Amino acid sequence: MQPIGILGTAAAALIAVSGAGTSPPKKLSVVATTPDFAALAREIGGDLVVVTALAKPTEDPHFVDAKPSHLVTLNRADVLIEGGAELELGWLPPLLDNARNGRIAAGAPGRIVASQGITMLEVPARFDRSKGDVHSLGNPHFLLDPLNAKIIAAQIADHFGQVNPAAAETFKANLKRFDATADQKLAEWQKQLEPYRGAKIVTYHKDFVYLAQRFNLDIVETLEPKPGIAPSPAHLAKVVSTMQATKARVILVQPYQNRRTAETVARQTGAVVLDIPQQPGAIQNTATYFELMDYLVRTLAAALEAKK
Ligand SMILES: [Zn+2]
Repeated sequence: MQPIGILGTAAAALIAVSGAGTSPPKKLSVVATTPDFAALAREIGGDLVVVTALAKPTEDPHFVDAKPSHLVTLNRADVLIEGGAELELGWLPPLLDNARNGRIAAGAPGRIVASQGITMLEVPARFDRSKGDVHSLGNPHFLLDPLNAKIIAAQIADHFGQVNPAAAETFKANLKRFDATADQKLAEWQKQLEPYRGAKIVTYHKDFVYLAQRFNLDIVETLEPKPGIAPSPAHLAKVVSTMQATKARVILVQPYQNRRTAETVARQTGAVVLDIPQQPGAIQNTATYFELMDYLVRTLAAALEAKK
């Protein structure tokens, strides 16, 4: 009986080994600084990736609360996607220093800096961070232009393919599908916003500049005098007079911005305050990039129609 027992054990061991060989490959652990990059990573990675965003969708991407759990997440990551251009300057560098993970070090295939492929708007002629401006390398809120989303999706597919070459073709196929949907959706969104070409709007922060450029809207003022600087009474008085002169009647605010300031200005100008989050998942049914943009375009068009 003894030999059969040994054979049985050997066979069981063989099965265990071959079982391990056919198990699905480990999913890439992807970390994105903000939910919008995370949403793109899910489109391209599909079920071959597990994606975590460090910032909450209701958090200001410039000022994220760094937590010990972020260190653990970064330490285990295969890929990190950041906006770059100083979007995360105030909170990401110390986290990265302490996470000690060579896979996501600058220049590694596992490190994606979204801004590197983008034609940045509002790049200052002279670099100056002294007055607290958080856009000193140009405007880092570029993802609301669907053409920029396509560029970043391509960067993501390329890096995912370098980190997991066996799945490179799958990532390419997912990119192709993303691009086709983006092209079709962009045409729809342009049609929806075409009646409001040239419409005057006001935003709290300079965070809708790329959207305005793509869809031909005119941002006449921001409630912040400079990106990252709180509104002052003197600046708000200027905003009110500009809005009166230009007949701008819509003020866009995000969940983490001071809505009461916007309401005060709206009362003086007959404007409406529009809650319009720019991060997927900040409100229900906006988990994907396309759902978010659908919501944003629909909400904006409705407000512009009402205030025509
Ligand atoms: Zn900003």
